[in-house]
Amino acid sequence: MKLHRLISAAVTLGSAAFVSLHAQEMGFEEYEPESTLVVPENPVTSARFPFVDVHNHQRGRGMTKEGVDQVIADMDKLNMAVMVNLSGGSGNSLKDILRNSKQRYPDRFAVFANPSYDGIEDPDYPERTATQFQADIKAGAQGLKIFKNLGMYAFDPLGRVRVDDPRLDPLWAKAGELGVPVLIHVGDPAQFWLPHDGSNERWLELKQKPGRKRSGDPSFEQLIKEQINVYKKHPNTTFIVAHFMWMANDLNQLAGYLDMLPNIVVEMGAIIYDPGRQPRRARAFFEKYQDRILMGKDTWAPAEYYTYFRVLETADEYFPYYRKRHAFWRLYGLDLSDEVLKKVYYKNAARLIPGINRDLFPQG
Ligand SMILES: [Zn+2]
Repeated sequence: MKLHRLISAAVTLGSAAFVSLHAQEMGFEEYEPESTLVVPENPVTSARFPFVDVHNHQRGRGMTKEGVDQVIADMDKLNMAVMVNLSGGSGNSLKDILRNSKQRYPDRFAVFANPSYDGIEDPDYPERTATQFQADIKAGAQGLKIFKNLGMYAFDPLGRVRVDDPRLDPLWAKAGELGVPVLIHVGDPAQFWLPHDGSNERWLELKQKPGRKRSGDPSFEQLIKEQINVYKKHPNTTFIVAHFMWMANDLNQLAGYLDMLPNIVVEMGAIIYDPGRQPRRARAFFEKYQDRILMGKDTWAPAEYYTYFRVLETADEYFPYYRKRHAFWRLYGLDLSDEVLKKVYYKNAARLIPGINRDLFPQG
């Protein structure tokens, strides 16, 4: 007994010495283990059905003649039938974008207009802005896009302009009256409000992009509350809520809002890493809300769409995401049915965005 203990103590000591000799210090950013898992791999570089990307931004080079040709060539490779360019602006700049993109490819682009908050304190701002939007739709815009500056970085002389500022009511009402959707992006991922420490899932992002750290006012919850007020107040306006309302990590909560508000739908720009880490829950969510989910990507990097296709279309397991600061974890496919895929890829968008040419998509 005594001898046995002595031997086991020596073995423990020996292995401890071995470990310390070979121990390494390594930062989280350097640790990129290659998976040794051997499972079927079904990468997808072109979507199974033609799709509408409802969340894209093209300005500058993307809107020159050569730029547009290149965008179309990349869209064709991805099987992207229609790109919704949310950076249309308003007035003359909108007309330029419409001319540059839609003149030669009328069916391949939809352009959404953006309001200005300049002079929001002027008494005529509410009507003036709604009227300008009506003119923008007449000029060829197919919807309204609200950037996240509303609620966070838009100010009037008295302070922050809230998402539910009543001076914007005529604008929301006008969109409903004209039958065009409002794609609205409010806030940031909730993790940006949490302490920047080792327990924060976005620790790396906040290290690489310290400007994204948010503190206090307005809180994540406050921004949710303000946007919900708008959706409730304007039941005849369709809102496409960007980035799954930054709630893709809590699909039960998002489901609650979808149940409460029949005039909202959601798009999946920049959040595919969340459905991809909960394939069973996410698949059930996509099945239940198949009429209320739209394909969107946001950042225009064609090869990154492959990951979206793979999550939506395949049953692959434990494959990588492309940006560690968003997600250090690996993803799993949802293996959606063709019926659900068609809705998410194009049917829902074609129903909600006027002027989309249905001949670009399979019939039935
Ligand atoms: Zn965007």
